[in-house]
Amino acid sequence: MGGGPLDYRDRDYKDYNAVYDAFSEISAGLETEAMRITDTHEHLRPDDFYQDIDLEKVLKNSYVDWCGVELKGSDRAARAQFLEKVRVNSYFRWLLRSLQQLYGFEGELTADNWDEISARIRAAHADPGWKFKVLTEKCRIGRAILDAYWDPGNDNGHPEIFSPTFRINMFLFGYSRKAVDHNGNSPFRLAERYGFGISDFESYLAFIDFAIRKAREGGAVALKSALAYDRGLHFDYVARDRAAKVFEMDDTSISPCDEKAFGDYIFHFICEKAAEYGLPLQCHTGLGKIWGSNPMNLVPVIERHPETRFVLFHGGYPWFHECGGLAHNYKNVYLDLVWLPLISPSAARMALSEWLEVAQTIDRISWGGDTWTVEECFGAVIAAKHVIAQALADKVVDGYFDLEIAIDVAKRILRVNAEELYRLA
Ligand SMILES: [Zn+2]
Repeated sequence: MGGGPLDYRDRDYKDYNAVYDAFSEISAGLETEAMRITDTHEHLRPDDFYQDIDLEKVLKNSYVDWCGVELKGSDRAARAQFLEKVRVNSYFRWLLRSLQQLYGFEGELTADNWDEISARIRAAHADPGWKFKVLTEKCRIGRAILDAYWDPGNDNGHPEIFSPTFRINMFLFGYSRKAVDHNGNSPFRLAERYGFGISDFESYLAFIDFAIRKAREGGAVALKSALAYDRGLHFDYVARDRAAKVFEMDDTSISPCDEKAFGDYIFHFICEKAAEYGLPLQCHTGLGKIWGSNPMNLVPVIERHPETRFVLFHGGYPWFHECGGLAHNYKNVYLDLVWLPLISPSAARMALSEWLEVAQTIDRISWGGDTWTVEECFGAVIAAKHVIAQALADKVVDGYFDLEIAIDVAKRILRVNAEELYRLA
């Protein structure tokens, strides 16, 4: 291993074995204490969520629920029908791997073993410490950045493991007292909670600044835009007067064009605040409203705010080449594999392999799980390690770098880069 590049004409099972050997060695290297993870993104539910947990609740609160298949009842036939439809989907495969390891079974989840596994899940969570055991001992997560969009800036009451990120979507909806973001959050409700009076556009901007400072005081280490679920990611540079005018308009006369202009102005304002307070701006890119979520849409804001650190989430899937190109060209762009190994391990393997080559420096790539339950979080960890070991093994066998560097790179992706970027160490 570690010799020159392979002659591709000779690729045969011997090479396959070499990849497998490197993969195994790297995988083993990922299971040491030195690989304790700093996870850049989770939506893990608060403690009381787990009180009535069972297999159905785990599935309903996982990405398997995004497969568009309804579990039509709790009888054998309904379960069998559901499993038959989702069983090759990537979200399901990784959740299955997690459940196998956490609840001790092999092979597929079936209508026959459903109740037994469900009972094991319930029994394990009878111990309120189980969820944390999964996070700290099974996932080996040292710290996770929590995006509690149901209460932006919250840490679930567990500052010992969670650092909040502050979701900023709602501020783009300040053009109307009635408008809310896709999570149902309104900036005016938040202002009320703080007893902050908003009378004009000036005070509205002052409130955004105040709310970001409050979040930071509460431990927030980043800002988070999930705007790709609300709108397209192209933010024009809009004059302040134009946004102020929209703020003063009454609801009946505001057009979609006015709403966009207002949001555009506010997003640029938030980019400035992110730089001012040294908070990386985590940006959902790809999927979401897929007509407008290509990360290339962010180029104007990336260029306009060179002091703002933009963290492109999810590899911009399916546009992970674009993410690589942006990291190649802009030093204020960071890449995060978050969610990508769950969406598609094949894409994640290719993305990581390419990003290592093109992202100017090794400190630019990190990872997060993006899950609601500790069960799926463990699946995300398994997926990430699998993909990272695969991509690094490819590089080692190609003679691109050696095993020692590969292990070091893994440590950077899983912990060190996030610690540095979010100042967590
Ligand atoms: Zn997320």
